[in-house]
Amino acid sequence: MGAINMLGLAKRVRARILQASTSEVYGDPKVHPQTESYWGHVNPIGIRSCYDEGKRVAETLMMDYHRQNHVDIRIVRIFNTYGPRMAVNDGRVVSNFIVQALRNQPITIYGDGSQTRSFCFVSDLVDGIWRLMNTEGLTGPVNIGNPREFTIRELAGLVISLTGSKSEIVSRPLPQDDPVQRQPDISLAAAKLGWQPSVALKDGLVQTIDYFQRRLAQ
Ligand code: UDP
Repeated sequence: MGAINMLGLAKRVRARILQASTSEVYGDPKVHPQTESYWGHVNPIGIRSCYDEGKRVAETLMMDYHRQNHVDIRIVRIFNTYGPRMAVNDGRVVSNFIVQALRNQPITIYGDGSQTRSFCFVSDLVDGIWRLMNTEGLTGPVNIGNPREFTIRELAGLVISLTGSKSEIVSRPLPQDDPVQRQPDISLAAAKLGWQPSVALKDGLVQTIDYFQRRLAQ
């Protein structure tokens, strides 16, 4: 409903409108890395489905308003992103691990930690979105994310070493429909936007740890 309302507004005032879509539209992908032309592998009735299908139908609405009403749309598919100003209780893996490490609490790995994600620093994401919004004649969808892939166990090790934490690693059950791997193919963003990520995971983690250290001290 929010997407319909915003698309109606964009149509009325002739605004350019951006949908912050997600790698989640690819579901648990059977094609690796994921290109924008891949249609995805999504469970329509699982616990993540409201998010996946919500984002997918929002992309559909964006494209329909573009085709029928010539609304000036942009769709970005955002892969895992992290950085300063995440909420302490956000629940995603990077903030969870950093907060747990700084508090010397157990680091909770869901499943065996062999699942992979690629982590994009927030400033790289903003740069990609800014370029997309300022490029003519390109609706997207365009993947924006960091193609360097890490296992969740590798991330835990990196966070422990960068924080000097005494935390131990504990296993927790893997949530249903948790994707096994996720990695963006960013050729389209490179070709059309001249974009590529520039912040390595270690450097971004140092900045994010610094933020959470100050945040937790308050
Ligand atoms: N994860 C984990 N421990 C946590 C939080 C998340 O092992 O405390 C795992 C989660 O099961 C998933 C990965 O880390 O495999 C990324 O999870 P997140 O919620 O950050 O993002 P998404 O699954 O949407 O990519």
